[in-house]
Order: sequence, then C-alpha cells, then structure tokens
Amino acid sequence: MSKYETVIGLEVHMQINTRSKVFCECSTQFGADPNANTCVVCTSQPGTIPILNKKTVEAIVKTGLALDFTINKQCTFARKQYFYPDVPKNYQITQSELPLCSKGKLAINVGSKEKIINITRMHLEEDAGKLIHEIGSKKLDYSLLDLNRAGIGLMELVTEPELSSPQEALSFLTELKNIVEYLGTSECNMEEGKMRCDINVSMRLVGQKEFGTRVEIKNMNSTSGVRDAIAYEVERQTEVLESGGKLIQETMFWEPKEGITKSMRTKEGMLDYRYFPEPDLVPFDLPNSFIEDLRKQLPEFPKIKKKRFINDYGLSEYDADYLTSTKMIADYYEEALNASQDKKTAAKPIANWISTELNAKLNASKIDISKALISSQNLAKLVSLILNGTISGKIAKIVFEEIYGKSLEPETIVKEKKLVQILDESVIIKICDEVIAESPKVVDEFKAGKERAIGAIIGLVMKKSKGQANPQLVNKILLVKLKT
Ligand code: ADP
Ligand code: MG
Ligand code: ZN
Repeated sequence: MSKYETVIGLEVHMQINTRSKVFCECSTQFGADPNANTCVVCTSQPGTIPILNKKTVEAIVKTGLALDFTINKQCTFARKQYFYPDVPKNYQITQSELPLCSKGKLAINVGSKEKIINITRMHLEEDAGKLIHEIGSKKLDYSLLDLNRAGIGLMELVTEPELSSPQEALSFLTELKNIVEYLGTSECNMEEGKMRCDINVSMRLVGQKEFGTRVEIKNMNSTSGVRDAIAYEVERQTEVLESGGKLIQETMFWEPKEGITKSMRTKEGMLDYRYFPEPDLVPFDLPNSFIEDLRKQLPEFPKIKKKRFINDYGLSEYDADYLTSTKMIADYYEEALNASQDKKTAAKPIANWISTELNAKLNASKIDISKALISSQNLAKLVSLILNGTISGKIAKIVFEEIYGKSLEPETIVKEKKLVQILDESVIIKICDEVIAESPKVVDEFKAGKERAIGAIIGLVMKKSKGQANPQLVNKILLVKLKT
C-alpha cells in the first residue's frame, strides 16, 4: 500500500453532433479537404457576427439532463482571450460564470461497486482550428492552418477532483461515452478528436485533507494515453515527494513515443484569459417548455435497459451487460427480437448468437455492429430455423458462414445446400445401424461400461449424416440400440 493517494479531475471536451457549426452554417463533416468547411464567420472576417445554432443548445441541455445536471435557463456567452493561430478571432466564444449546466453526476463502476463522481459544470463553446506542422512524416519548416474544426460546437465538462486511479478515470470516460452515444449528442470518438480531455493529477498523504499541488496534462486524445499519462504522473510525483522535493503547479503534455509527460508552462506562465461578456450574443432565457420537451426525448439509458432486458427477456446479467454495452448492440438485439415469431424462446439464443458468432466476426474485421454484414432480420430467421427444428445448431453455424457478408436469406442456403435437419427416425435408425456395424471397437467399449464412448458414436452418426441428423434423436436411438 502506498502512503499516498491519487487525486484526479478531468476536463472533457466533446464535439457536438450537429450538421452545422455552432455560430455559422458551415458543415461539421470530418475529413473534408482543408478549409473546405469555412465561411466569413468561422474564419473571423471583420464585421461578421455569430448566430447561435439552436441544435447545439438542444444537444448540451439533453446531455445535461442525462447526467443529472441542473440546467441554468439563462444562456450567456463570454469571450476568452488568447493569441494562437488556431483561433483566428484571438478569442474563443465560450461560457464563463454561468454555464448551461451545473452540478451533474455520473456513476462509475469500481470493482463490483458503484461510485458517484460529481461533475462541477458543463458549458457550450466553440472548437479551435488545427495547426499542421508535418505532412506524413515530413516536418515542415512552416505551419499550415486548417479551420474546418474552428467553430464546431463543443460541450466541455469539468469534474470534481474525485477520481482516484487511472482505472477510475477510464471508467468515467467509458461511462460518459456510453451515455452520450446513447443520446447521440456526440460521437465521442477519441481517434477523430471528437472527444478530448485534460487530466489534472495530484498526490496527497492518505488521510490528508488538503489537496496536493496538481499538474494539468493537456489534450489527451486516446484512452490508453489517459491511462498511461496518469500512471506515469503518479510515479513521478510520488518519487519527487518521497525524495523530499516539492512539486510545482504546471501545465504539461503527454509524449506518447517516450511515454513521459513534459512541461509546457508553469504557474507563472499561466494564461490570463480576461473573460468578458460576448457583446455579439445577447443573453436570453431558455423557455421551460424547451427543457421539458427535451427531457421527454431522453432515451432509455444503459442501466435501465439492462434491467429491462433481464426482467423482460430472462437474460443473464452477463448477456444483458454485453447487449447494452452500446446502444447499437441493444438496438440490433431488439430489432432481431422484434423480427422473431416467438420472442420468448428466441430471446436467449439470439443474445448468444450476437455475443459469440457475430461478435467474433465484428472483432475480426474491427467494425461495429451497425455495419454488421448480416441484418438483424436474417439473424432472427436463422435462429427460428434452429428453434423450429429445421436445422441443428451446428448446421446453423455453417449457414451463418454462408450468408455472412452476402445478404442472403438463411432459408435459401438451407434449401440450396440441402441442409435441412433429418427428423425422420427411420432414416436416423438406418445411419445408426450402419455406424454400429462399421465401428465395433467403440461399440464394444460402450457395452463394456465406458459410458463416454457414446459421444464418439454420436459423432460418427453426425458425420455420416453430414451434420444433418437431429442430435437429440441420434442420442435417443443409439441408447435404445446399444443398451438392448
Ligand atoms: P482551472 O480553471 O485552472 O482549469 P479548475 O479549478 O477549474 O482549474 O479545475 C480544473 C480541474 O482540476 C477540475 O477537474 C478539478 O477537479 C481538478 N483539480 C482541482 N484541484 C485538483 C487537485 N489538487 N488535484 C487534482 N485535480 C484537481
Ligand atoms: Mg483547466
Ligand atoms: Zn463557417
């Protein structure tokens, strides 16, 4: 046990999922040609003024409601001054004293327990552009500026310093991403920079009330980076404290190649943003009805969905966890169920097919379920074919392989390849007789008391029937034949 405890607070930026930017009509589309998505407003030409995109306000209020925030009806904006070429106005429009959302919370899982993390605030602001210092691996001796991202709406939330390990920080980001994806208000995709975070880390003696000196690590853009950067800082800070040294408050960045944090600026160099009210955006009040309408639109959240899956469909905790791990998987599952004739009997096998066979395919090609190459309807049909005895589970796997990626109906393949299960006892009896005659050795073993030998005999019958014999019937018939 370390005598120190780790204190972490996160500042998370999420790009709002709207078609156009927050103060102009430019597209937010990722991956467009550099500066294709720009106009006089988001390139800050003199004489232009911002016009607030209502959809971005809807998105942040919805997210705020989902995270138990108090929604502040007063909507005011401020200018945050800083001089950097990725912000052509030399200030960023944001919210300062009065964010749209205050005092939210999010439950995370710590081991088998739940821990509530309080979220101080969440506000609306505009994203900055992007400076490009290298093309491919070639470092440029000048910098290029891409303003496609400038002016895209961001929700920024700031947590209380209540996280106490890299795992907890990851758990917070995962839960947050999950809820926001359920809402559809951000894609929260760290790889595309749609979710970024700053990490604040400090250490203090266990039992000590006062916080220790913190460092802030800016602009993390991967979950593994978040985990590694915190772990590195914990080790570094512990060493400094253990050797009697003093930590200084500083802003750092993570150097993933070297696996270390590096200083950007110390407290003396901290920027003074000189916030003041944004004169081009008049403060206004959100009507109650606006907030209440959004509240009504909130989807069913993962935890509640999970309970419903367990109660209504009789799924195990484990299956329900997997199926509600993203909204896309949950939707796919329920679509498949809705396409089934008998939901009750199909619930469990469909869950199994999604979490095993389909999941394996998705993992192998690293795609998510929304791009699965078998429709939920066809998966449901495949399961019905097993349930109504047309094919065995084993044959179903063959059919699955055949139809995956080809948008074929399972029945087509079953007919084409003559895979229909043999349920005719007289046919199965005939095959059993043949196998018994051909394999006296295992038959004798069974008769001599080696019960397990039956498995091998069933296997031979199944093989001879090309997997088509109904395994339960084979078992029944063999037992009758061998025991008499
Ligand atoms: P700033 O305005 O300088 O970014 P804030 O007070 O808004 O500072 O805090 C930013 C983040 O730092 C918050 O997430 C907060 O929880 C976290 N934080 C504050 N103090 C500490 C500390 N001693 N150790 C770790 N995190 C801290
Ligand atoms: Mg900060
Ligand atoms: Zn624009």
